[in-house]
Amino acid sequence: MKIQFLGTAAAEGIPGIFCTCDVCRKVRERGGKDVRTRCQTLLDDTLLIDFGPDTYQHCLTYGVDLSVIRDCLITHVHQDHLFPMDLTYLRRPFAETPEDYPFFRIWGSEDVGPKIEEIFANPKIRGEYHEIKPFEPNMIAGFKVTALKATHGTDHPFIYLIEKDGKCLLYAHDSGVFPEETWEYLSGLSVHVDMISFDCTGGMEEDLDYRSHMCLGRNIRCRERLQSMGLVDENTRCFVNHFSHNGKDVLWETLEPQASAAGFEVTYDGLVTEF
Ligand SMILES: [Zn+2]
Ligand SMILES: [Zn+2]
Ligand SMILES: [Zn+2]
Repeated sequence: MKIQFLGTAAAEGIPGIFCTCDVCRKVRERGGKDVRTRCQTLLDDTLLIDFGPDTYQHCLTYGVDLSVIRDCLITHVHQDHLFPMDLTYLRRPFAETPEDYPFFRIWGSEDVGPKIEEIFANPKIRGEYHEIKPFEPNMIAGFKVTALKATHGTDHPFIYLIEKDGKCLLYAHDSGVFPEETWEYLSGLSVHVDMISFDCTGGMEEDLDYRSHMCLGRNIRCRERLQSMGLVDENTRCFVNHFSHNGKDVLWETLEPQASAAGFEVTYDGLVTEF
């Protein structure tokens, strides 16, 4: 499976859109890997994950052609992961499309429908919404996609188990420590997880005083629990992703050595890898 990280930041990006903190100042000066746009990922050039406000920028920067991508999976309805306004351009005259142009399908929890139904109610808009139920596999763009419940600040946030050609990805954005219902479901699986993308909004902290995100310490404990269940082993590639300028030690020079010492790879905008 090929995974391309198009954006790797939390809601306000790094540098934060209006922020003047030390981290954001440095990042503005230096550029490079520390510049992070809002979280979005593409699998095998066919399945988009999330449709945030930087989608257009990602298409320009990485040559992603949305006219040939049919499916988009939404993790949750925070605006950095679902920016419905851009879906209104999926019609003429904003988009010249052939008569037989297939629909752009948005997949997500019951929270997603109300955010986009008014837009998709317009018959000129070539979009379709498909609701996903938790813990029930769906075939989407050739992937077997199973939504798991997340711990995050929306009504029905999901993380996803995504399988294809014998490979399995756990895409865990956004979520704090997983809810017990998700652990129960995972305990009944006999799958080997080949790659995990962990929420690391808190950066290199040992723990956080809030529930809805993770940090390196939480990632380590989550990986240990997955290991103890036999889903993860030393061959599983674990990535930390979705960073905030408010997180601890999030500049590459301090982030990468600590994450790497703990056995995690660090994402950056534009990173492409296969597993
Ligand atoms: Zn987010
Ligand atoms: Zn800042
Ligand atoms: Zn969120």
